[in-house]
Amino acid sequence: MKERIFLSSPHMSDEGYEQKFVKEAFDTNWIAPLGENVNEFERELAEKVGSKSAAALSSGTAAIHLALKAADVGEGDIVFCPTLTFSATANPIIYQNATPVFIDSDYKTWNMSPEALEEAFEKYPKVKAVIVVHLYGLSADMDKIMEVCKKHNVAVIEDAAESLGTYYKGKHTGTFGDYGIFSFNGNKIITTSGGGMLVSDNEERVAKTRFWATQSRDKARHYQHSELGFNYRMSNVVAGIGRGQLKVLDQRVEKKRYIYEYYKRELSGLEGITFMPNNKWDEPNYWLSAIILSGKVKPIDVIKALESENIESRPVWKPMHMQPFFKKYDFVSEGVSEKLFEKGICLPSDTKMTNMDLGRVVNIIKELWVE
Ligand SMILES: *Cc1c(COP(=O)(O)O)cnc(C)c1O
Repeated sequence: MKERIFLSSPHMSDEGYEQKFVKEAFDTNWIAPLGENVNEFERELAEKVGSKSAAALSSGTAAIHLALKAADVGEGDIVFCPTLTFSATANPIIYQNATPVFIDSDYKTWNMSPEALEEAFEKYPKVKAVIVVHLYGLSADMDKIMEVCKKHNVAVIEDAAESLGTYYKGKHTGTFGDYGIFSFNGNKIITTSGGGMLVSDNEERVAKTRFWATQSRDKARHYQHSELGFNYRMSNVVAGIGRGQLKVLDQRVEKKRYIYEYYKRELSGLEGITFMPNNKWDEPNYWLSAIILSGKVKPIDVIKALESENIESRPVWKPMHMQPFFKKYDFVSEGVSEKLFEKGICLPSDTKMTNMDLGRVVNIIKELWVE
């Protein structure tokens, strides 16, 4: 069996930063619950992205859930959400007993279409929050989206789970809206094995999410609760891994860009291939290199050819409005996300890939174009 090449797998620092911070947690017996690593990871991440405060949580999904709660989204409220995303963006809307309305993408960004968003507001004038996603590390067109959202006076939550290290016009994604969230799941650009972060300039609201995330314990000697609580806090061991990973984030972005540029150089000439958009205002983290196939070679042909050589690749996310669980909710369509799903494919973008690995992938793909 040939050596496995992953789409995107955990990549700890060569320097062993993560183990140093984890060891500190052991040495001081601050394994759990909180401790210096949690406080410092929050501070360091907030500083990195340029946000006033951050709350370290057990997952990106938990962060979206608490962001919705912080934005006061509750029973019966409408929340606009991109259809082209991972289900974790939409699930917390249901946890809050709110109603998602799915919004289509545009070809220019592969993210939420500002035009479809505007159209959705015409149909639903009373909306509690909008979740914007920066898919595959490509930023949504935030100026346009924020303009529409401001006009309608609605809370904005940015799901930046895939876009840590991505900047829009020089400003970090996740810091445009009222709340931003990041994920440190195993496949993300940096990982803590599992974890998430909520960021906001509203320090009072962030403090409140920390309170909810630790079972909403009132300040009392006995256990007293005036609000519903959650067990969503990140542990001090996990935060240690995060602090180490944050030190190599820039290196990871650099390698992801190298991978993207390698593919682009080698594959652009093939008939029917277009690469994910590269807008001049966007500085992506290139989390995954994705392409569109509109010629006679289909995504499934590429996926199967790579799989037979033990190489992982994936179709683009299946839109939420096409999911059995979510299809009963409304969808404002421009006919784009279905096409991206049908024709899109994410190529292996693992930062541990060597030039030889990249060569292997490219050669297998090129073979499919030989008559
Ligand atoms: C990974 C991901 C999440 C969820 O993050 P977890 O930490 O796995 O809960 C949410 N949204 C998007 C777009 C993601 O890719």
